[in-house]
Amino acid sequence: MLSQNIYSKLDKSSWIRAMFEEGAKLREIHGAENVYDFSLGNPDYEPPAEVKNAIKKYALGEYPGLHRYMSNAGHPDVREKIATVTAAESGLPVTQNHIIMTCGAAGGLNVVLKSILNPGDEVIVFSPYFVEYLFYIENSGGKPVPVPTDTRTFEPSLELLAKSITPKCKAIIINSPNNPTGVVYSEETLKRIAVLLEAKEAEFNSKILVISDEPYSKIIYDQVEVPNILKIFKHSAVVNSYSKSLALPGERVGYIAVNPGIADVDLFINGMLFCNRTLGFVNAPSFFQKVIGDSLDAIVNTDEYKKRRDFLYNNLIELGYSCIKPQGAFYLFPQSLIPDDIEFAKHALKYNLLIVPGSGFGCPGYFRLAYCVNFNSIKNSIPAFKALAKELKD
Ligand code: PLP
Repeated sequence: MLSQNIYSKLDKSSWIRAMFEEGAKLREIHGAENVYDFSLGNPDYEPPAEVKNAIKKYALGEYPGLHRYMSNAGHPDVREKIATVTAAESGLPVTQNHIIMTCGAAGGLNVVLKSILNPGDEVIVFSPYFVEYLFYIENSGGKPVPVPTDTRTFEPSLELLAKSITPKCKAIIINSPNNPTGVVYSEETLKRIAVLLEAKEAEFNSKILVISDEPYSKIIYDQVEVPNILKIFKHSAVVNSYSKSLALPGERVGYIAVNPGIADVDLFINGMLFCNRTLGFVNAPSFFQKVIGDSLDAIVNTDEYKKRRDFLYNNLIELGYSCIKPQGAFYLFPQSLIPDDIEFAKHALKYNLLIVPGSGFGCPGYFRLAYCVNFNSIKNSIPAFKALAKELKD
């Protein structure tokens, strides 16, 4: 029944999911409180009060037509609000016409890629990467081109990027704050990428779209600023969502914001509306678009995430693990204590620690910890990390 294409992908589709399943087994044997599950970026928070109030308002009030079909772009009033914020942040004349509401960032990325890729077109992703990018690109007949980052900083290497751009390169996906490293790319790095892309576009007479995947843009620490992509790259589109910033991953709402300065902008937007419709999304969930429209100023408690980051990071460093201190998102990406990160993750299971090998993100030799789990679990996991280090270092 299954196509060969899908069949071939099932096996290698996700380490994250595999670990999650492993966790379910361990919980049954040892009890949930004795299993330290850092495998999934599924926030343990409840949505902020603004979201709950808006849910009540739209559920109990009279809003005729709320549950009907609408324009494929989404509710105009919600898009207008998002456009106002995007315009203020970027300084660009962004209007509601440049905003398309989507089924999360995942839906948004698929819509953008479907609308631009011809068979065999290349899309650059920086490794370590969010593994779903590979599948999203292939969904639209494109070819993912992983380009390693500089593991001293996990920022893109300009030298490797320059070597990887060919005349077939149609887009580049940027994800900052990054999953899995938590790194926020500096403005200087991004501006250097912009200069490089312009030179390559001139050399190949091509256009390369910068797709900025930003679900973690509001989850940042230590007063770091996330550079505005629309300001830096003229040929750009931002894909964002409320899965992480409002702890609503199950509700599937996000948006695409298109740079108004892009060539043939109206045609591009029309193409994306067509794809939003024909990929079967039709429109983002109506009720939650409205809820989000009332909650744009809200954000989950990032101080609590910072507390977890600091505690886990400081303890791991003390135990001899080596790791970059992330400035955003809710992941740590330490070095594996043995070269084979998959073996390392298997060793960790013996201590009821669920971690994801870096190979799952195209970056062997590392492992990812999603610390969007409750603080007690993080605290109780430290002896397990200690025992793991003792076993492998002695
Ligand atoms: N992009 C990145 C980097 C992610 O980490 C995730 C989810 O974990 C997504 C996109 C998908 O987010 P959404 O739930 O908004 O589809």
